[in-house]
Amino acid sequence: MTGYREAVVDLGAVTANVAHLRSVIGTAHTMAVVKANGYGHGAAPVARAALAGGADWLGVADIEEALELRSAGIRAPILAWLHDPDADWAGAIAADIDLGLSSARQLQQVADAAESLGRTASVQIKLETGLSRNGVHESEWAPVLTLAAELERAGRLRVRGIFSHLSNASPADDTEAIARFDRGLALAAAAGLSPELTHLAASAAALRLPAARYAMVRLGISIYGLSPFDDATSAELGLVPAMTLRGRVAAVRHVAAGAGVSYDYTWRAPVDSSLALVPLGYADGVPRQASGCARVSIAGRPHPVVGRIAMDQFVVSVGEDLVRVGDEVVLFGDPAAGVPSADEWAHAAGTINYDIVTRIGRRVPRSYRNPAAE
Ligand SMILES: *Cc1c(COP(=O)(O)O)cnc(C)c1O
Repeated sequence: MTGYREAVVDLGAVTANVAHLRSVIGTAHTMAVVKANGYGHGAAPVARAALAGGADWLGVADIEEALELRSAGIRAPILAWLHDPDADWAGAIAADIDLGLSSARQLQQVADAAESLGRTASVQIKLETGLSRNGVHESEWAPVLTLAAELERAGRLRVRGIFSHLSNASPADDTEAIARFDRGLALAAAAGLSPELTHLAASAAALRLPAARYAMVRLGISIYGLSPFDDATSAELGLVPAMTLRGRVAAVRHVAAGAGVSYDYTWRAPVDSSLALVPLGYADGVPRQASGCARVSIAGRPHPVVGRIAMDQFVVSVGEDLVRVGDEVVLFGDPAAGVPSADEWAHAAGTINYDIVTRIGRRVPRSYRNPAAE
């Protein structure tokens, strides 16, 4: 039975997507990226499903996200790479979380925290190769890698990996970043480091740029069954979208030609019309920018969103169709099932599919289908 508002997540699809991606990419290691609550799908359930599909690493942005996975009982290796200046380094080390580090200051802080715990921290050094975000800048590679090697020899930390991230701006830009990354790896070797994990590619490069694969790829959007590309659909990549966002019609109303609909009357009924009210709005992550552009599916048929999407609700014009209160409304899901895709909503809202699934709010309960057997 459909909930009033509900994001249904097919965990079997996540498992199958990871298994498929591993078979086409073929790296020694596969990281499933489950930051931001698993791109809105639920971090711990997605992590388990991805591990069942053969992922052997989990990736998150910050330490809090990593600790949440540990609290959920997940023992797999986890890397966290974006940190508060006063991050809980000791908590992360004690919980066996690998720390992606981008500066000498962070290396020193982590080494100090490890020393106070009497432990060796596992770290992965992030090199900046073009994105201009975090990562050690090329001008500091030599001193930072030398410091890391010293701290490693002192037993404070083990440099388990070296990594970077691509812009996907163009094949030429990415090829330039690969060349920079290779220079960084050579410097690391010269400094006496022997990281077992080298990694650069997220979903896009993992799929289309074999030279960027190295020992591991970090797969985010693709494990959720969505395409990182404008020019390829999920199905064309052999992926199944895991999330279906749906709800139930909360009211049905028949209005005369000329009736205004929702705030500002940006849409007026051109003819006598039947309207269905859907109880999801921008507070739930339904993008207001898609007002008047997106479609939903009711009883298997597509209908346009009309007027402004409000905080809690929006209106759909259902034409001649007989729609009743309580009928299921699907905003997006697997287009192979005849419903709109997250990509279609992204297009309507002028954004990307990542934004559509990740923004689904707390008021929308997640329910899970097809979890892997424990
Ligand atoms: C989010 C993220 C990823 C995953 O990217 P996708 O495009 O979703 O596959 C990989 N690496 C880093 C560093 C990230 O921040």
